[in-house]
Amino acid sequence: MSEGPRHSCGVVGAVADSDVVGYIHKALNLIQHRGQESAGISVYSDGQMHTVKDNGLVSTALSPRKIEGLSGCIGIGHVRYSTAGSKSAVNAQPLTVEYNNGTIAIAHNGELTNYKELKAKYMEQGWSFFADSDSEIVAKLLVRNMRTMDDPVKAIRAMMSEIDGAYSLCILFNDRLFAVRDPYGFRPLCLGEVGDGYMAVSETAAIIPLGGRVIRDVMPGEIVEITSRSYKSHPPASQCPKAHCMFEWVYFARPDSVIDDREVYSVRKRIGMILAEEAPADVDVVMPIPDSGRAHALGFSIRSGIPYEEGFMKNRFVDRTFILPTQKLREQAVDMKMNPIRSTVEGRRILIVDDSIVRGTTLKKLIKVLRAAGAKEVHVRVGSPPIIAPCFYGVDMKTRDEFIATKYSVEEIREILNADSLAYISIAGLVRALDMPEGDLCLACVNGRYPTNIPGEVHRFQSTLQHDFS
Ligand code: AMP
Repeated sequence: MSEGPRHSCGVVGAVADSDVVGYIHKALNLIQHRGQESAGISVYSDGQMHTVKDNGLVSTALSPRKIEGLSGCIGIGHVRYSTAGSKSAVNAQPLTVEYNNGTIAIAHNGELTNYKELKAKYMEQGWSFFADSDSEIVAKLLVRNMRTMDDPVKAIRAMMSEIDGAYSLCILFNDRLFAVRDPYGFRPLCLGEVGDGYMAVSETAAIIPLGGRVIRDVMPGEIVEITSRSYKSHPPASQCPKAHCMFEWVYFARPDSVIDDREVYSVRKRIGMILAEEAPADVDVVMPIPDSGRAHALGFSIRSGIPYEEGFMKNRFVDRTFILPTQKLREQAVDMKMNPIRSTVEGRRILIVDDSIVRGTTLKKLIKVLRAAGAKEVHVRVGSPPIIAPCFYGVDMKTRDEFIATKYSVEEIREILNADSLAYISIAGLVRALDMPEGDLCLACVNGRYPTNIPGEVHRFQSTLQHDFS
């Protein structure tokens, strides 16, 4: 796998009358599921930007020793998504650049779809780039814009009119903090009141444990300037079609987060309920694939009346299997990760529920384990429709080749998995579970229709490719 922008990450920005480093550090811990490759914090104090960042989990990259002495009343933080082969510390964030009046620090979640074109364009004009990162384009554009505009809001707006794709950003211009969400609202970003100040963070689940109060989502296309006393909204000049990533609710976000007014746990439970209506099964027990399939399975159990039981014990200390570089390693890791609970499994007709099938590695292996443990039948229900198209907006699903559903029919996949039955939730069912107009969602990975222009791919709205930020 090549180096490149991989930005389904977590971001935070905080400002208060007292030190915010502790809050940022805790918030990063609370959104650690969004990225395990690297972590970092930038704070502005004593007229300077101070940044600590490193590869690893928050606990190591930002260990007490490493952040000793780091303090300030305004700062941002970042956790970076882990993908095979992209461990370079140069891509760790926050990204900092000097501008005519000090330092800009950026924490970015998402992925720009036109960054290669922008990079090529500006390299022609003599700009140099030090990392293969789309966030660097954001930084460079802001620096250039600040030279002529000298107003962060104007500089951000002008930058937004050039970039396309997914971005939830926390940006520091020295001691001024901005939270920015792309006009489609692909990735989440919310505002909260924490301590004696305010915070912007990827997920609401990071606010309550800090003793804070969730205020609201940052709106698609909105720029919010946050101070210790208040926040000021700069809404977009025009409304654009939204494209919230359905995968945030299906898999990526924490169940206890609320994104765009929908609690992730409730959506997952509704997906399970709708699966029970769309694809019922005559079985003895409903079993989740922990942890990602838990709420989906519970929903299935509630709607079908079939008892819910835990049938796998998960070893939390095994690395994420999804990102391992070879199929053999991924399969071995699944073995290490999940052990069946015999009393749930032996002699029973089991229905397992998982959030998604990408390559099929996990389920193929787990069904084998269940059969070896004496399961009489193994039926599979899946909380997302078949994944058939790459994500260009920050979820690490990059090539069609890796998707089992691009090569095989549902019946063929059932055979490959060695399941007694297999059903995915329908796209209509998923939209119903999300209780949102279909047009407000990005469903590109399941229907192949992309909300932004991607060369060679089908565009959702052929006529509205540009946004007006004037
Ligand atoms: P697979 O074994 O390749 O079919 O992967 C599917 C499992 O990996 C799902 O059950 C999810 O829990 C998880 N998963 C799906 N998409 C991703 C992703 N982009 N990054 C990490 N894990 C994922």
